Amino acid sequence: LEKFPYQHVLVLGLAKSGEAAATLLHESGIQVRVNDQKPYEDNPQAKTLTQKGIEVVTGGHPLSVLEGIDYLVKNPGIPYTNPIVQEAEERGLPIVTEVELAYRLAEGPIIGITGSNGKTTTTTLTYEMLQESKRPVKLAGNIGKVSCEVAQSTTDKDTLVIELSSFQLIGTETFKPHIAVFLNLYEAHLDYHKTMEHYGYSKAQVFMNQDEGDYVIYNADHEDVTNYVKQAKSQPIPFSTTSYQPEGVWKDDEWLYLKQEKIVRLEDIMLVGAHNMENIMASVAAAKLSGATNDGITSVLKTFSGVKHRMQFVKELQGRTFFNDSKATNLLATSKALSAFDTPTILLAGGLDRGNEFDDLAPYLKNVRAMILFGETAPKLQELAQNNGIEQSIIVDNVKQAAEEAYRISNKGDVILLSPACASWDQYRTFEERGDMFMEAVHTLE
Ligand code: ADP
Repeated sequence: LEKFPYQHVLVLGLAKSGEAAATLLHESGIQVRVNDQKPYEDNPQAKTLTQKGIEVVTGGHPLSVLEGIDYLVKNPGIPYTNPIVQEAEERGLPIVTEVELAYRLAEGPIIGITGSNGKTTTTTLTYEMLQESKRPVKLAGNIGKVSCEVAQSTTDKDTLVIELSSFQLIGTETFKPHIAVFLNLYEAHLDYHKTMEHYGYSKAQVFMNQDEGDYVIYNADHEDVTNYVKQAKSQPIPFSTTSYQPEGVWKDDEWLYLKQEKIVRLEDIMLVGAHNMENIMASVAAAKLSGATNDGITSVLKTFSGVKHRMQFVKELQGRTFFNDSKATNLLATSKALSAFDTPTILLAGGLDRGNEFDDLAPYLKNVRAMILFGETAPKLQELAQNNGIEQSIIVDNVKQAAEEAYRISNKGDVILLSPACASWDQYRTFEERGDMFMEAVHTLE
């Protein structure tokens, strides 16, 4: 950690990122104290860190942990209303997330990717395009390892691709990616950010420290994203699925272009959905600016069938195509999924009842010819089906039965889509578990 002027750091909140941050600070010879809510007995990470000789305070958040501290590394999930964070703010201490440490440790250029939706897909695509082009590249974020841990192992040759949430970005200070990607901004996480302004401001941190030598790739089809980017000092690279962008990424009926250069034929792209076209455009720009080749990009797009559980192509069977979009835990995600197809679709949906209604899905149901429903919200979704003239709506017990039932009533040419529009917690531990059960069931169909 060169040029790191702090000597006494408090790491607040353990989990994977806290453990990684505490370890590397300790190994850099900095005095570290860790504070975590969970009692020591059920806190394996606290035990590991204690064994490494790090001071660990568990079982609560006493203000005394701030004694002698000049820098606070906060877990992104801990809100700013936490008493320790508030006290640190009063004292004027820097309050950062481990992403800030990642920036300070990374030797090569960083690609930082943020947005309300599409982060994981875009991050994965960018990483794979660079890898396929034989460029030295490392991946960090939700799907990969913790950023600061990965950053530690980089050389100045490596490009580091990081997926960034608004919670992580609000905790940055000097963080400056060479390439920032701002995908979109939808209403989300207002329990944490309180206002859309604060949420947007947090996301805008991805480019706020950039200068003329850097790039910000952004969605020109989104007005508020475009407005935020006007504040950037870096070079703007717009992308649009609807209009010509002489300075960015755009498409006609046949090709996807960066400026005037033909990059990839649209027919070579396997991923479906207009929203994925946005993710593809953003990753093409980021990868090209980092030295990817058109061949490398094309070869990834020819085979990439989606990140697991995100509009993932599962298989084709007797002319029916199965997709797993278990990650779609809200109406917006499911509406995007439905918009991806113009063929007859059987929608598999349902799950935890949050008390909301499903009427907003109505405009997206025109190709849906049947709905197979499960979980707490099944009756509500059945009402939606009936109100919108959908011929068949069938309630079943779980996703396995839903897959079987969908296949039984399907015709050749149908898309069978799991995109639940609900969280999974009424029946499954995670959306991954729900998606895995679905895929398992699909693979046993004949
Ligand atoms: P994130 O990492 O931001 O949660 P993912 O790439 O995991 O995003 O995609 C999660 C879900 O969000 C997808 O299943 C899809 O329904 C939706 N989605 C993905 N990309 C976009 C996009 N560019 N715009 C809107 N929705 C999207």
